[in-house]
Amino acid sequence: MLSKQGSGSGEGIFIVVAGPSGVGKTTLCMELIHQIPDIKFSVSYTTRPPRPFEVHGKDYFFISEKKFRERIKKGEFAEWAEKYEFLYGTSKETMTEYLKKDCDLILAVDTHGARTLKVAYPGGIFVFILPPSLKVLKERLMVRGAEKKASLEKRFNNAMEEIKETIWYDYIILNDRLDSAVDHLRGIYLAEKSRRERMTKKIEDFIT
Ligand code: ADP
Ligand code: 5GP
Repeated sequence: MLSKQGSGSGEGIFIVVAGPSGVGKTTLCMELIHQIPDIKFSVSYTTRPPRPFEVHGKDYFFISEKKFRERIKKGEFAEWAEKYEFLYGTSKETMTEYLKKDCDLILAVDTHGARTLKVAYPGGIFVFILPPSLKVLKERLMVRGAEKKASLEKRFNNAMEEIKETIWYDYIILNDRLDSAVDHLRGIYLAEKSRRERMTKKIEDFIT
C-alpha cells in the first residue's frame, strides 16, 4: 500500500505543479523531464477533445464522459475535477505504481486537484506557477490558440480565484522567462532530492 506521505521507501518524490490554465504548467513539466528524463509525468485522463498535435497517452488519455464517470464510480482517480465543461482526472494506479517503485513523479493539475492531492498525499511537493501578469496570461492563452473565445474567457476569469490559493503551496515560480522558470523548477527538484530524510538509506550504507 502506498504511504500517505506519497512515496514508498522515501526516496521517490512527487511534485504537483498547479496554477491557472495557460500559465505554462505543461510546458515547464515537459522541459524539466527533457532535462531529467528519470522523472515520470503522470498523464491525466480527460473528456476534452484533443487539440492539434496532442497525442493520446502522451498529453492525455482522451476518453468519453461515460468511461470517465465509470472510472469515478470505481474509485480509479486520485483526484478529478470538472473544468470548462470537461472532466480531468489523475489516475490512482499511475501514481501508486510509480511511487511504490520510488520513481520521481510530476503532474500538472488545476488548483482544485492540487488541494485534493495535498490532503491525500501530504508528503508531495506543491508548486504554484504564477504568470508575470494577467495581461501576459491572456496573451499566452490566445497564442496557444486552442480555445474558442468563450472558453478562453472562462479560463482567464478563473485565474484570479486560482491565484488566491497560493497561500498553502510550498513553492511559487514566476513563469516569466521560460529558461529561468525551468531553472527554478529544476532547483526545487534538486533541493528536494537532497533532503536529509531522503538520503537516509545512502547514509546507512556508510554506517552499517
Ligand atoms: P498550462 O499547461 O498551464 O495550461 P501551457 O504549458 O499549455 O499551459 O502553456 C500555455 C502557452 O504559453 C503555450 O503556448 C506555451 O508555449 C506558452 N508558454 C509557456 N511558458 C511560457 C513562457 N515562459 N513564455 C512564453 N510563452 C510561454
Ligand atoms: P487543458 O484543457 O488546458 O489541457 O487543461 C485545463 C485545466 O485542467 C488546466 O489547468 C490543467 O492543468 C488542468 N488539468 C489537467 N489534468 C488534470 C487532472 O488530472 N486533474 C485536474 N484536477 N486538473 C487537470
